[in-house]
Amino acid sequence: EHASDLKICLTSYFAELGGNAETALALPVDALHLDLVRAPEQLDALLPKLPADLVLSLGVIDGRNIWRANLPEVLKTVQKASEALGADRIIVAPSCSLLHCPIDLDMEDELDDELLGWMAFAKQKLSEISTLAKAINDGPDSVSRILDESSVWHATREASSRVHQPEVRVRLESIDESTMRRKSPYAVRSEKQRAKLGLPPLPTTTIGSYPQTAEIRKARSAYTRGKMERAEYDQFLRDRMAETIRFQEDIDLDVLVHGEYERNDMVEYFGERLEGFAFTRYGWVQSYGSRCVKPPVIYGDVSRPKPMTVDWISRAQQLTDRPVKGMLTGPVTITQWSFVRDDQPREQTAYQIALAIRDEVADLEAAGIGIIQIDEPAFREGLPLRREGWKKYLDWAVSAFLISSCVADDATQIHTHMCYSEFNEFIEPIAALDADVISIEASRSNMELLDAFVRYDYPNEIGPGVYDIHSPRVPSTEGMTNRLRKALEVLKPGQLWVNPDCGLKTRGWPEITDSLKNMVAAAKTLRSEL
Ligand code: GLN
Ligand code: ZN
Repeated sequence: EHASDLKICLTSYFAELGGNAETALALPVDALHLDLVRAPEQLDALLPKLPADLVLSLGVIDGRNIWRANLPEVLKTVQKASEALGADRIIVAPSCSLLHCPIDLDMEDELDDELLGWMAFAKQKLSEISTLAKAINDGPDSVSRILDESSVWHATREASSRVHQPEVRVRLESIDESTMRRKSPYAVRSEKQRAKLGLPPLPTTTIGSYPQTAEIRKARSAYTRGKMERAEYDQFLRDRMAETIRFQEDIDLDVLVHGEYERNDMVEYFGERLEGFAFTRYGWVQSYGSRCVKPPVIYGDVSRPKPMTVDWISRAQQLTDRPVKGMLTGPVTITQWSFVRDDQPREQTAYQIALAIRDEVADLEAAGIGIIQIDEPAFREGLPLRREGWKKYLDWAVSAFLISSCVADDATQIHTHMCYSEFNEFIEPIAALDADVISIEASRSNMELLDAFVRYDYPNEIGPGVYDIHSPRVPSTEGMTNRLRKALEVLKPGQLWVNPDCGLKTRGWPEITDSLKNMVAAAKTLRSEL
């Protein structure tokens, strides 16, 4: 029973109410909100079942993305509900909270008019909502100019040659089973990789980035503000890279990395080098806590005009006799951490990115790089809320990873990296990625996550992080030796790699120097016992 005049609207989003619909309809609330962007079909299903006095909040404007709505189309949905319930029983709303949407498109002064015409941020979305409400209350004629404008922009986007690239389409069509399978199974590949790479047992490596120091941030900022010449900036980054290669040799790591100094962000760096991506200046959204990100906008078919990392990685490789691991961001993570197109299924976008990464893998390999890591830290967060949706997502996410990695020769070792440790629920898709080596977070769970891999009898190699890079604490050799011993109770020695649990970009040099030295010492202790 209502205790006061306060009106309560029950709001859920990002999926259909599904099996909870009956419960939701029986609750003593005044209004019910539906996400009609993610689950438009639920309107027809629920309209006949609504209790007589319940108000319906129609989440028809996409609160989770940055595209301008096609208002005349959206209006049809609102009209349908209005005809069924009466205008006084409907609310027009964004599909979800606007937390995930940047604030104001009017601030963007570097995007061209066409792109601006296709987009809407929070402020513009609120105008769309008020236009829809006015169309219902005062009739569509009262807002006809705005409705027309909206459909014209929609039509130009649909027809634009910036969006639709026939060559990309043709290439997508050509994907088949063989695109997504390595030449030989892991057992055959691992022999060839062992012979070629000549690594010791329990090889040591890091996840990719080295400290992004104040000095590096200062140089980047000077360069982006036009205060430092390109040549000077490049030389500065190359010097840091050379120092980092020398450092890794000095502390005796086995597989080296170039340090990722040229990258501001693991998604933005690749997006800036791919066709089909645009970048906003002020499109910040909350990531977690007080951290914000500025996701790229994928507006068109994706292609790779030229190699994106080969120059850096092969320069690094020329500085050492030890293998340098080429570092790429994977297609699922790039898709997941961008604003994606709403005019094609998400997986199409992921496959296009996967083809671009595939070309990069082939080029790195041709340049003599023997180990390539494709990071997929966002693989798990893409899982749909409802379990019913998991299989479809995992199928395309695994396919996207395979498209990008399976071009590699047997002797080229493919690594992947994920920053979490709950694999119990989805170890099968992880195995289906068929990466030769996967590095994962493990230190905080004290290697217990390995249970999932053991239960599944995971055959490939694993680098369970031996220390937590999120803490400034320097881990002791003894502590890491114990963790490795624990891992060796369940993994074969030939399966185990030794690495921290994520990239080192947020750490300082003094800590990582001590931490990595201790890590190498732990690996050597264990090696001598094998
Ligand atoms: N290679 C990346 C790095 O080291 C991986 C980052 C991540 O896992 N989020 O920074
Ligand atoms: Zn990580």
